Amino acid sequence: MHVAGTSSNRNQRKLWHFHGGLHLPDHKSMSMQRPPVEAAHDDLLVIPLQQHIGEPPEVLVKPGDKVLKGQMLARANAYVSAPVHASSSGTVVAIDEQPVPHPSGLSATCITIETDGQDKWDDCLPAPIRDYKNCTASELLERIHWAGIVGLGGATFPSRVKLNPGANKPIDTLVVNAAECEPYITCDDALIQSHAQEILQGIDIVMHILSAKLCLIGIEDNKQDAIAAIQQALSEHESDNIELVVIPTIYPSGGEKQLIKILTGKEIPGNSLPADIGIVCHNVATLFAVNNAVSKGHPLISRMVTITGEGISKPQNMIVPNGTLISSLIEQAGGYNNNVNELIMGGPMMGYALSSDTLPVSKGTNCILVTQKDNAVQNIPTPCIRCGKCAEVCPALLLPQQLYWYARARDLDKVQDFNLFDCIECGCCAHVCPSHIPLVQYYRFAKTEIWAREEEKRKSDIARQRHEFRDARLARIKAEKQAKLRKKKEVLEKKKAADVDPKKAAIEAAMKRAAEKKQKLQEEGKIPANTENLTAAQQRQIDEANKRRENSES
Ligand code: SF4
Ligand code: SF4
Repeated sequence: MHVAGTSSNRNQRKLWHFHGGLHLPDHKSMSMQRPPVEAAHDDLLVIPLQQHIGEPPEVLVKPGDKVLKGQMLARANAYVSAPVHASSSGTVVAIDEQPVPHPSGLSATCITIETDGQDKWDDCLPAPIRDYKNCTASELLERIHWAGIVGLGGATFPSRVKLNPGANKPIDTLVVNAAECEPYITCDDALIQSHAQEILQGIDIVMHILSAKLCLIGIEDNKQDAIAAIQQALSEHESDNIELVVIPTIYPSGGEKQLIKILTGKEIPGNSLPADIGIVCHNVATLFAVNNAVSKGHPLISRMVTITGEGISKPQNMIVPNGTLISSLIEQAGGYNNNVNELIMGGPMMGYALSSDTLPVSKGTNCILVTQKDNAVQNIPTPCIRCGKCAEVCPALLLPQQLYWYARARDLDKVQDFNLFDCIECGCCAHVCPSHIPLVQYYRFAKTEIWAREEEKRKSDIARQRHEFRDARLARIKAEKQAKLRKKKEVLEKKKAADVDPKKAAIEAAMKRAAEKKQKLQEEGKIPANTENLTAAQQRQIDEANKRRENSES
């Protein structure tokens, strides 16, 4: 076990810096005053079908069906997709459109379960895998896929895909993201303190899948209890290729590219993935879920969530079943304080405001933040003064004011030229902007517009391909028909030729020869033309003329 970057052992591993970033008040102690608890089950669980990036899964149940805890409710049919499972036992009472947590405030298909209070596990779940080292990577990936595991750091990208970069991309290093750099959020901290050993087991499994030689766990130095928990777990752990690296607290050190830069000094080029330089990065909660899936045979049906903020009575962390309503968690955390200002999904920097608390928790929910009016300064946006402060703090080395201009002008090509998709929506630029421009909202809007445009293009490309394919198919069928007809005709002609009566053919040939001879004689003038149908007098004249000619010739 190695520990780098701590005050006692700071020089073991060199740390790098990323550009920009902010030192923010962390507000983390608020939710760490109480130990994490299991959230009580709701009577109704509203489970969104789409809790990941990729294709939605196919629903396997219908209203009225009895379901058990852990039972698969929807199956992933596409490669980039993830199934969803029942987080408690009960009866499916609806499959319909429900409001879900999303910046757009849109509704989406959800499966609603009325729980029976028994919380009874499905006894058909796959058996725990006792010795993962005897399994192939594909067997373990299949288990991870079955469990519906997605990136729990917020990205919600299906983990099976991320853990399978392909044979042409060998992975040397697994980076474990335990930085949890955003203010207020402590769910990873709480998970590490309560389940460090299971997280290390998840790391072992993932290193086995990737054949990685080294694991670097990056954690900010403001989480001393979590650091101690990992150190303790590492001291009892067999592996000696897992290194705990304590890094300075600076926002957003938990961004994937930023953490990789801090720990390895390597930059991920634009439009590239960490796997392109031999690195895969996973959040601690994802690794905990991997261990649950492999070692226990449990799908991802719950997660640690921070319920915090000045607007909540008893801020704390809770292990929350998927589909629990936020209103229920607020109630279990003592309810709202006076002067509630805003309900935010996520933290104050990267989160987004919710219009209601009757929305379900899903796999990507890490924090519910309730702010208070007293602390909320009303900032009215004013025009950009081109001060350049936003560019100074941007950890992605972008030009936020340029992105803002083009996003505002809806110049979607230009905004991409300025690398919009390298923006991690960290909010540093908006935080320092003296004009209080909601910059990130403009970037999100532009990204959504570009995705919509691409989706539109994708659909029209598919329609065009279908049309071209249909035309080609019709042309092929027509050509085949014509070829068949031609062949049939040839066969008929051959048959006809073979079927001719030899006697008849001889007569026809003789007649043909006579006609040809006659034609020749006519051409030589030996037979006068138009001699048919003559009157007797005409014939006589001709005969006499022929006689005279013969006499004169002799
Ligand atoms: S910080 Fe705000 S005002 Fe200054 S350049 Fe950036 S967008 Fe403009
Ligand atoms: S939100 Fe985007 S543009 Fe703004 S600082 Fe963060 S990465 Fe840079």
